[in-house]
Amino acid sequence: LSTRLTDSLAKLRTKGRLTPSDIDGTVREIRRALLDADVALDVVKDFCGRIRERALGAEVSSSLNPAQQVVQIVNEELVAILGGEQRRLELAKTPPTIIMLAGLQGAGKTTLAGKLALHLAGEGHTPILVAADLQRPNAVTQLEVVAGQAGVAVYAPEPGNGVGDPVKVARDGVALARSRQHDVVIVDTAGRLGVDAELMQQASRIRKAIQPDEVLFVIDAMIGQDAVATAKAFQEGVDFTGVVLTKLDGDARGGAALSIRGVTGRPILFASTGERLEDFEPFHPDRMASRILDLGDILTLIEQAQKSFDEEEARRVTEAMLTDSFTLEDFLKQLQQVRKAGNFKQMLGMLPGAKGLREAIDGFDEGEFARTEAIILSMTPRERKQSKILNGSRRLRIARGSGVTVTEVNQLMQRFDQAAKMMKTVAKGGMPNIPGMGPM
Ligand code: GDP
Ligand code: MG
Repeated sequence: LSTRLTDSLAKLRTKGRLTPSDIDGTVREIRRALLDADVALDVVKDFCGRIRERALGAEVSSSLNPAQQVVQIVNEELVAILGGEQRRLELAKTPPTIIMLAGLQGAGKTTLAGKLALHLAGEGHTPILVAADLQRPNAVTQLEVVAGQAGVAVYAPEPGNGVGDPVKVARDGVALARSRQHDVVIVDTAGRLGVDAELMQQASRIRKAIQPDEVLFVIDAMIGQDAVATAKAFQEGVDFTGVVLTKLDGDARGGAALSIRGVTGRPILFASTGERLEDFEPFHPDRMASRILDLGDILTLIEQAQKSFDEEEARRVTEAMLTDSFTLEDFLKQLQQVRKAGNFKQMLGMLPGAKGLREAIDGFDEGEFARTEAIILSMTPRERKQSKILNGSRRLRIARGSGVTVTEVNQLMQRFDQAAKMMKTVAKGGMPNIPGMGPM
């Protein structure tokens, strides 16, 4: 790990352009972070390709190291793709502004109707909600309750008329809004658990009947990798002018946002962040970018890696490994670097996807570091360079000198031999086989 991090993050230079090796390691981390955030693979590939291109053209900054610079470029690009400046609701020149909501069942449409109404009422508008979801038994009542909470008007079909026609309800609702001079109409529609043709046709018919100024596609941020297929289906079936991401109060990283932008090109207008009507805000591309990237984590990681690992030393050790001259001295230096990192485990925890590795490292005993250090320090310089000369009497002397048993000295020598072997594998481009650790 130390080698990998040092290689990818610590090649500091002061002028010229970022080189492919500066960029690749960081882009690899970014790719991982995006996939962890559930961004669709195609979108990730596309995005990382663009980042790489832009980073290759970038001048080396004097205040940021290459890794930080790449992260900064990534952040800028993410913000740009997510919409740059936030887009506001399009209000009709002649009221009423008609807003139609579409999306799967449970996405949060009905809740959003209330949130949007409350938000618009707060800006001095006079919204009315229209209950065109006649699919679920409770849908109409739910919208009435939400309207009551938001303190706005609602148009609902008379109960007991059998299965009503949602297209007619939507049309009548808009007509009523017009006659009563509401300046915004929000039409709630039915969803299904999955995308289906009937749902799309119904939504599409409603759209044709009421000619909305905005069709907002409402989607649950927790939906993860399904976001792309769902968004595509709604774009083809109904088409929409904007997106609302809901349930951003959950722990989803929100990769859905980037996927939907990437695939549909439609702007995200609002974010819904809880069950209460107040949990609602205009969408902020910069906040979303940080959330997707988990920028805090990545930046901290880079800083700590920088502090803890001495680049020159790492290069020298790598060379030693390659030329088969890895010594106990090098081993000691590596150990000391790892210890310098202090909360090494915590640092690993911040590496996206390093859970497996962290489990392997959790077996490490900090006290063991200290004993190992003491043993090596009790050796003569020649012994450290040529471990082969460590016979029984030398080992006994070293054990006494460092206050451990001969068995412990023997164990260290075994570990050193293993480490030397493992490092040779790494240095030659392979990966050591640590259980639970995927390719990084
Ligand atoms: P619809 O089927 O699309 O109309 O979805 P609903 O508005 O009925 O919402 C489905 C469920 O999700 C309800 O239990 C809501 O309270 C909940 N919900 C909606 N928006 C959010 C949100 O932003 N955060 C959380 N935590 N729950 C939400
Ligand atoms: Mg609903």
